[in-house]
Amino acid sequence: MARKKIIAGNWKMNMTPSESAELINLLKNDINTNDVDVVICPPFTSLGLASDLISNTDIFLGAQNMHFEDKGAFTGEVSPNMIKELGCKYVIIGHSERREYFAETDETVNKKILKALEVGLTPIICVGESLTQRENDEQYDFVKSQLINGLKDISLDDASKLVIAYEPIWAIGTGKTATSIQAQEMCKFIRETLSEIFNSEIGDKIRIQYGGSVNSSNAKELFGMDDIDGGLIGGASLKDEFIKIVKYNN
Ligand code: PEP
Repeated sequence: MARKKIIAGNWKMNMTPSESAELINLLKNDINTNDVDVVICPPFTSLGLASDLISNTDIFLGAQNMHFEDKGAFTGEVSPNMIKELGCKYVIIGHSERREYFAETDETVNKKILKALEVGLTPIICVGESLTQRENDEQYDFVKSQLINGLKDISLDDASKLVIAYEPIWAIGTGKTATSIQAQEMCKFIRETLSEIFNSEIGDKIRIQYGGSVNSSNAKELFGMDDIDGGLIGGASLKDEFIKIVKYNN
């Protein structure tokens, strides 16, 4: 089936509010497209102004994280409805940096996915193996376990809305991209696993991104692979190169 591509920029802990405004003003006129779903994920502190600045464009807004509770005594955390009210449609869940530095586990990832779906946010769920796991040929077992544990209790109705981002940790921010064949093989495996967890119709519908040192030179080849439905872009989403990535097919 034809799945619409989705390309998302993960700004991570970059861009003050004024820097964010500058970047969005640079991007927005060149990224008015309906061919691809384009998402920007600025830091929390820039979500409000980003929402205003993109209001007349086709760009969607996403957050980089959220808590799984609705509200309460969780100092420093941000709730699902807070980001929703600021205009977010998407939320990145379980990025490898959050798993590594902020003790996120498949269990918290699962709670966040369920909560995001409950409030009407679309989760972009990150999975991917470390270099050691790839060297030991454990990448498929590991990613499968992340999917099985992270996607527990998701209804069939909600499942097709999910977006999965395959991000091999060894390719994130390293300039070392997975080859299009490596990326395709894993994305195909992820789709097969999703078909096992849900069913093949849903497996066929779920969009799977590749992330890890995507740039304007490798985007076309990667996004042209059968099971790769776009990308999650870190470093290259912080500059006008993001426009070229979004227009990879032109
Ligand atoms: C990311 O962190 O999601 C990412 C893919 O980063 P980069 O593009 O910089 O490798």
